Amino acid sequence: MSKRKQRREALIYHAKPQPGKIKIVPTKPYATQRDLALAYSPGVAEPCLEIAKNKDNVYRYTAKGNLVAVISNGTAVLGLGDIGPEASKPVMEGKSLLFKIFADIDSMDIEVDTKDVDNFVDTVKRIAPTFGGINLEDIKAPEAFEIERRLKEELDIPVMHDDQHGTAIISAAALLNALELAQKKIEEVQIVISGAGAAAVSCTKLYKAFGAKAENIVMLDSKGVIRKDAKNLSASKLEFATDRKIDTLEEAMKGADVFIGLSIADIVSPEMLKSMAKNPIVFAMANPDPEIKYNLAVKTRKDIIMATGRSDHPNQVNNVLGFPFIFRGALDVRATTINEEMKMAAVKALAELTREPVPEQVNIAYGETRLTFGTDYIIPKPFDQRLIAEIPPAVAKAAMDSGVAKSPIEDWDRYREELLQ
Ligand code: NAP
Ligand code: MG
Repeated sequence: MSKRKQRREALIYHAKPQPGKIKIVPTKPYATQRDLALAYSPGVAEPCLEIAKNKDNVYRYTAKGNLVAVISNGTAVLGLGDIGPEASKPVMEGKSLLFKIFADIDSMDIEVDTKDVDNFVDTVKRIAPTFGGINLEDIKAPEAFEIERRLKEELDIPVMHDDQHGTAIISAAALLNALELAQKKIEEVQIVISGAGAAAVSCTKLYKAFGAKAENIVMLDSKGVIRKDAKNLSASKLEFATDRKIDTLEEAMKGADVFIGLSIADIVSPEMLKSMAKNPIVFAMANPDPEIKYNLAVKTRKDIIMATGRSDHPNQVNNVLGFPFIFRGALDVRATTINEEMKMAAVKALAELTREPVPEQVNIAYGETRLTFGTDYIIPKPFDQRLIAEIPPAVAKAAMDSGVAKSPIEDWDRYREELLQ
């Protein structure tokens, strides 16, 4: 399709038949005078009084427990940069749509007009009573780090900045599977990370939690390899600085087992790929154009295991595999946070699901004949009904085991059945 046609189609999709992508519908009867007297005054006073007596009753009598806010200030929207709160609204509405269709979570987009960290945190804190969870979205680093840290600390509902953790979770699952196929151990592999921004930092932290060794990691930013002996490094970069006396991506790639790209397009050359170790794992996730083009990479190395952020190639690292199901599990046990244990449980569940036989419906949905665990299938596909049955229980269980679940699940079989309805 031509660029022009694509643009027209996208604009019509968003404008017609009514502008935007989500709307609100009542969930209770409202046809009679009696219904209205229950929905609003005087009947509504009863649940108000119950909640006033005990705040936890808000989960019983209102929509809070299944309501997630998608909140942005529009400072780092997709690859479009700081385009402002209004211009970010289509993206946030889109995320709300995904919450609904993949995990039946009701979600509202909220665009906040401030770039100031204190103001943003304050705004979110003040509206938090409305919601069961908060998905922070497309907020510029480094502000996003502090915003998330403070909100997690100060609120007792799950808060997650998806641009950081979503990518980390999905790519970690893909990495575990790729390592299995390459017959390599995460503790032993040499890893090159191109990029030192929000996504790269949180991915690297999670890979370390799974066993990747700091001394085996080389991270690069726009100026080259981040070295320990460099001056004026920010705290987040210092954590991943290397002792090795190298400066360029070319040097870093020699003998490397894994390349993680969260930077910019077309910075990896075929020569660099050729210099990598046997069965190289290359996740070139810069969007929309990867660090090396998919076709060029697979042509250069027959033994490559490759993933990108794109849907037109195998192994798309797509956040939609994570956030709907992670919040589903967190909400269902009324978790007070989304902690490392819950994220790691999601990673393991995603990795394990990929190794199971793929149901026929998934093959049909993607026009494939036989998806099976292998170099072209290291991560599940979004339209896979097993995701909703497998990921939320894993996350919920991790929340319970780590002591952050206020409403533990007792009957797991029944829970799985409910998830599939
Ligand atoms: P970010 O916070 O702006 O970080 C970008 C990082 O890239 C910065 O650290 C920057 O270095 C570095 N960089 C720029 N040019 C470079 C070069 N030539 N070599 C090495 N590093 C370079 O952005 P982000 O949110 O982390 O996202 C980064 C990229 O990952 C984007 O392309 C985004 O689309 C992609 N991404 C993909 C997925 C996905 O596939 N699911 C998810 C998230 C992000 P300085 O620190 O020196 O400025
Ligand atoms: Mg985003």
